[in-house]
Amino acid sequence: MVVTHTLEGLLPADVLGRQDPELAEILIGELDRQSTTLQLIAAENFTSPAVLAALGSPLANKYAEGYPGARHHGGCEIVDVAERIAVERAKALFGAEHANVQSHSGSSAVLAAYAALLRPGDTVLAMGLPHGGHLTHGSPANFSGRWFDFVGYGVDPESGLIDYDQVLALARTRRPKAIVCGSISYPRHIDYGAFKDVAEEVGAYLIADAAHPIGLVAGGAAPSPVPYADIVCATTHKVLRGPRGGMLLCGAELAERVDRAVFPFTQGGAQMHTIAAKAVAFGEAATPAFTAYAHQVVVNARVLARGLAAEGLTVSTGGTDTHLLTVDPAPLGVDARTARGRLAAAGMVLDTCALPHPDVRGLRLGTAAVTTQGMGEVEMSRIAVLFAEALREESAGRQVREEVRELTGRFPPYPV
Ligand SMILES: *Cc1c(COP(=O)(O)O)cnc(C)c1O
Repeated sequence: MVVTHTLEGLLPADVLGRQDPELAEILIGELDRQSTTLQLIAAENFTSPAVLAALGSPLANKYAEGYPGARHHGGCEIVDVAERIAVERAKALFGAEHANVQSHSGSSAVLAAYAALLRPGDTVLAMGLPHGGHLTHGSPANFSGRWFDFVGYGVDPESGLIDYDQVLALARTRRPKAIVCGSISYPRHIDYGAFKDVAEEVGAYLIADAAHPIGLVAGGAAPSPVPYADIVCATTHKVLRGPRGGMLLCGAELAERVDRAVFPFTQGGAQMHTIAAKAVAFGEAATPAFTAYAHQVVVNARVLARGLAAEGLTVSTGGTDTHLLTVDPAPLGVDARTARGRLAAAGMVLDTCALPHPDVRGLRLGTAAVTTQGMGEVEMSRIAVLFAEALREESAGRQVREEVRELTGRFPPYPV
């Protein structure tokens, strides 16, 4: 008897609902929340159904410690092909000599980069956390701050731009073993060439933590760190629109060190369902449709920035080059925390963040998710108006919530 397997046969409609209605209800509730509110969190996006299918596949069952052709488990011959495809697609997409697609998250990728290049106690120069550095850039609550001697550079409090003179001066006096460029809230392109010059002058490695802009890089809408950085760390789930996960890109000479830093040094078995989903996302990101998407993400962010500025909010650096922008709601009479609460009540989901002026918190917004939904400049202008209405008057929240519901109803993230 020939058994023909199909994915439809494996996952019949409502398989979870019939077995575990309690959990199914939660999944549906989250889909409903994502579909009826505006996802303005700069780090979020909507993966395609194809990516979700790979995530929910039998590859989730497979143990695969090691690398294709050199695993510590049997039965890896098929998942090996998936990982090889993911690696080849990542290399082609970013023009990198080597790619490691096993990192479980962006933070794991950064940990692996440090493990590949540094020893505990080494000095590392990175953007300070009060200026937009990530937890892995030296937070005392994170392994990075505990195991390395981090020195923080910042942005100019007036312009909001990276102070490259300060980076150079700190590099000269502190002689770091590595310099990290990358941020969770910097709205402008990073000058990777300038960082490379500083790193070369002081004999430091350059690590680009491109978790946020890597999707724009894939779509040709932002400069690539690959030609400049010794190691590029990234996430696959932000603008890049893949599954939650991380990856590393580097030249051939660091390939082996990077691979060993991921497995066996910092991770165990690779998550093959996620790696397959990364391959699917890299395939999508190589299409002209994704190039158009990445450029639209930036256009949308610029229109949103202009709209919010016209409503009286202070936009850091005066605008954006990327998918994200940060704003100070103070001119509308609310602090960032209150603003986030009012916006959430009105159906607009976003984060607070550091602002160029030390000790002032602002709001961080991104356009990756709403652009995936198909929204364009008209919708961004409307969102800016609704945003300000919700902030000015707490009582406007209910009316804005209805308008958000109407807007999102016209742009379902997963049309049926
Ligand atoms: C998002 C991000 C990370 C971490 O990604 P996780 O997947 O949440 O671990 C690291 N660095 C930067 C700059 C980021 O923006």
